[in-house]
Amino acid sequence: MKISLQNLSKDFGDGPVLKDISLEINDREFFFLLGPSGCGKTTLLRLLAGFHAPDQGEIYFDDEEVSGVEAHQRNIGMVFQNYALWPHLNVLQNVGYGLDTRKTDKYERDRRVMEALTKVQMDEFGHRFPNELSGGQQQRVALARAIVIKPKLLLFDEPLSNLDARLRIELREDIRELQRKTGITTVYVTHDHSEALSLADRVAVLHEGRIEQVADPRTIYRRPASRFVADFVGEMNWWAGRVSGSERGQVRVSTSVGELTASSPEPMQTGKEIWVGFRPEAARLTGIHPNRIPVILQGINYLGDREEYRCAAEDGTPVKVSVQDAGTPPPIGSRILLGIHPDSLIILL
Ligand code: ATP
Repeated sequence: MKISLQNLSKDFGDGPVLKDISLEINDREFFFLLGPSGCGKTTLLRLLAGFHAPDQGEIYFDDEEVSGVEAHQRNIGMVFQNYALWPHLNVLQNVGYGLDTRKTDKYERDRRVMEALTKVQMDEFGHRFPNELSGGQQQRVALARAIVIKPKLLLFDEPLSNLDARLRIELREDIRELQRKTGITTVYVTHDHSEALSLADRVAVLHEGRIEQVADPRTIYRRPASRFVADFVGEMNWWAGRVSGSERGQVRVSTSVGELTASSPEPMQTGKEIWVGFRPEAARLTGIHPNRIPVILQGINYLGDREEYRCAAEDGTPVKVSVQDAGTPPPIGSRILLGIHPDSLIILL
């Protein structure tokens, strides 16, 4: 099922929470709403579910406008952060609950409950009660309960945030598998950029009730549409600069650490004030690339799979560099010539 949101706005009385949101979500897509706390992502999810009505705008499921359709008639499966299982029902009863309310025939009900539990690898836990299960197992049951009704749309609201780091990664792989296998259009809310980037077909980044960018994960990370998006999905080293020339798919930018050359499909007007920056992992420790920025190494954070060099450029700007397999690091206080490829420089207005 495809979803179309057209000019949605919502205000609970303390100022707008969602401002003129328009969005198309494709059939079978795994779509993410990503943003910081309070940006309106849960509100948007609740509008989709039918728990709130928009003040303005329309929501279409395929070509049907759904504002008059009650939440329980929208045929949506939901998974929340807190599992929300019935404590007095066992796993089979919890998962079958939605089918009981739909008066599904008993044989069909039992078959579908087992099928859903098998999909989430919980078929051997049918007679356990929620308090006899780990957090990860409870969330698998919640997943089974969401898919057993064969919904047209799955909504996830921070489903992994109560789990520890290892389990989060394990379960997110399973959620991805389940989404691909079932092909149910899915909208997933999170403030965790790594969750969104690793799972999504496309991501909408929200900021203060507006959409800043909608794109696939690589574009969001490598070609962010705003400084907010760039900073929200990872770390950046930024300089203010002025365009000094534009030719052959490249823009030259004059900054306080010298002239930098960035790839840019669009030419830019000379004299324009812009931001130019790069991600910590984009810098090479030898100045082999056209952009060379000398820095002084001030400290190292050892992180196991990589090391984070804390440096300072000659203009005093702090610079973070992420290094993998570097061997013995240079002594603190050394001068390093960083090299950054023009494709790795991000330029933004
Ligand atoms: P979080 O990750 O913290 O849940 P969020 O991006 O999901 O954040 P929302 O829950 O959508 O944010 O809330 C956006 C804003 O709307 C917040 O300022 C919140 O206080 C307000 N809000 C949400 N629901 C209601 C409500 N029912 N009544 C009044 N204000 C609300």
